[in-house]
Amino acid sequence: MIKNCSLCPVSCEADRLKRAGYCGVSGVKIAKYYLHPYEEPPVSFKNGSGCVFFCGCSLKCVFCQNFELSRVRRGKDITVEELADIFRELENMGAENINLVNPTHYVEHIAKAFALYKPNIPVVYNTHGYEKLETLRIADTFTDIYLPDLKFIDPLLSSRYTGKANYADYALPAMRFMAEKPLKMREDGKMLSGTIIRHLILPLAAYDSVNIIKFVSTLPKSVYFSLMSQYTPFGDIKNFKELQRIITPREYKKALAAVEECGLENVFLQDGDSSGENFIPTWDY
Ligand code: SF4
Repeated sequence: MIKNCSLCPVSCEADRLKRAGYCGVSGVKIAKYYLHPYEEPPVSFKNGSGCVFFCGCSLKCVFCQNFELSRVRRGKDITVEELADIFRELENMGAENINLVNPTHYVEHIAKAFALYKPNIPVVYNTHGYEKLETLRIADTFTDIYLPDLKFIDPLLSSRYTGKANYADYALPAMRFMAEKPLKMREDGKMLSGTIIRHLILPLAAYDSVNIIKFVSTLPKSVYFSLMSQYTPFGDIKNFKELQRIITPREYKKALAAVEECGLENVFLQDGDSSGENFIPTWDY
């Protein structure tokens, strides 16, 4: 796929052996790897999740909290062999898992790296949710835990903030695919396999959060749901007045009420006052 790339729904058909595609990258580029303490508790668990932050992005949300690597593409070029070495290093550091952050446009490189070295810890596929099933089937060959965002259902919102009115057309089938991953929790609470769907409540968009929560309630009960209230004004939002504030207690309560009304059981919640840049890592390259 990489010579005529159609890994993501944009399907820009770039020959990424020669040039960057719409996602902004050709070869492998990363901004950081380290033991990250702020994922959901069964994922970060005791030692932290072994996150590898990949550069470039095929979705391009204007409010991206990782704007510097997704859009500005600040980072370091590495080879597939070096990526395999990073997996080994993270495992040796005691990582609870290998957490591939925004991996969609690197799926083929990552599969090659795992063919060189597959750590003996779970692999987490941490995605924005704008995924093709063909690409997820490749990812599924190395993935134990899916950690997708489900960002929007309303096409007006996804169009306004990403330029992609078809986000939900791809994301909802992708969520159904990922929801089939069997849930395996170790006795001490560490996740070995399964799916956690995340949703970040946006200012003025609690109605869409409610629809997302209703959708999640139709998925298998084994799926966990993580409701995030940490939205912090960040990124390229100067033309989006509504995004220049954190969410209100009323917006948070509206989403929380939907979680209760829909009877979701496996839920992670952030406090209503979790916004702030302390959740955003500093980048190494
Ligand atoms: S992953 Fe990148 S290069 Fe491939 S189709 Fe998507 S935007 Fe284009």
